[in-house]
Amino acid sequence: MFDGPVVSLEAKNPFELRVHLGDAVPEQSVREALASGDMGFLHSYTTGSTVDGPGVRVVAWTTGCMWRCQYCHNPDTWTLSNGIPVSVAKAAAELGKYRHDLKAMSGGFTLSGGEPLMQSRFAAKLLAAAKKMGIHTAIETNGFYGDRLSDAELDTIDLVMLGIKTWDPARHLALTGQPIEPTLEFARRLAARRRPMWIRFVLVPGVTDDLDDLAKTAAFAAALGNVERVEVLPFHQLGRYKWERLGLDYALDGVTPPTAELAEQACDVFRHVGLTAY
Ligand code: SF4
Repeated sequence: MFDGPVVSLEAKNPFELRVHLGDAVPEQSVREALASGDMGFLHSYTTGSTVDGPGVRVVAWTTGCMWRCQYCHNPDTWTLSNGIPVSVAKAAAELGKYRHDLKAMSGGFTLSGGEPLMQSRFAAKLLAAAKKMGIHTAIETNGFYGDRLSDAELDTIDLVMLGIKTWDPARHLALTGQPIEPTLEFARRLAARRRPMWIRFVLVPGVTDDLDDLAKTAAFAAALGNVERVEVLPFHQLGRYKWERLGLDYALDGVTPPTAELAEQACDVFRHVGLTAY
């Protein structure tokens, strides 16, 4: 039975490079874990986050992602076996230690990644366990595998923070390596079920700052009716060293973070259609 951590799961910050921590898990066990959700692969977790959902939160980062965003600051999370194998029971027990504090701080638990729905069975079980303990639950996802969650599973998630990367389909494909439609379909499904949603948008100068493109994203988001807020996240270079260490080609060398004016301009596009944007 593989039930880490061999190294500490708790990260000092989300930018720690972690690789090969699950390499020793036999392929058969990985397949069984993905099918059952009884075991998952985690990059790390942090406590005390105030930027991954409402209040103060415990955040667990999963490994595995099917996208290859040019601006990804955690490319070490792309590979499932870079994560530490942890049973859902152990992860839930660890989380349970914080439940009273999280409640007192109007916070909760956020499952992020990587892409958590790459391990949809683990994600569903861990979020349901958190919900059962009375902990507010959130997931940060690109939505591509949203159809892997049943309606009942969706109802155990108090907040979906959906990443919309850009609007134009060709640009989306170039930026992420995947089509945008499954993400939009997931957003429509969440809207139809009236599930609370935040939209997260990474603002990259020269890449995602086209105002027409932003206006189309904003119009879509406003029409959904369930978007409580939009977070415009300024691009940064904190993850660049990971691309170098992993021997990956990094396309955004030399791109600088957006100015405060540009970030405000982007927020205004969302505000213009009646959304709350930060
Ligand atoms: S969806 Fe997230 S984890 Fe996956 S490549 Fe994009 S930014 Fe990175």
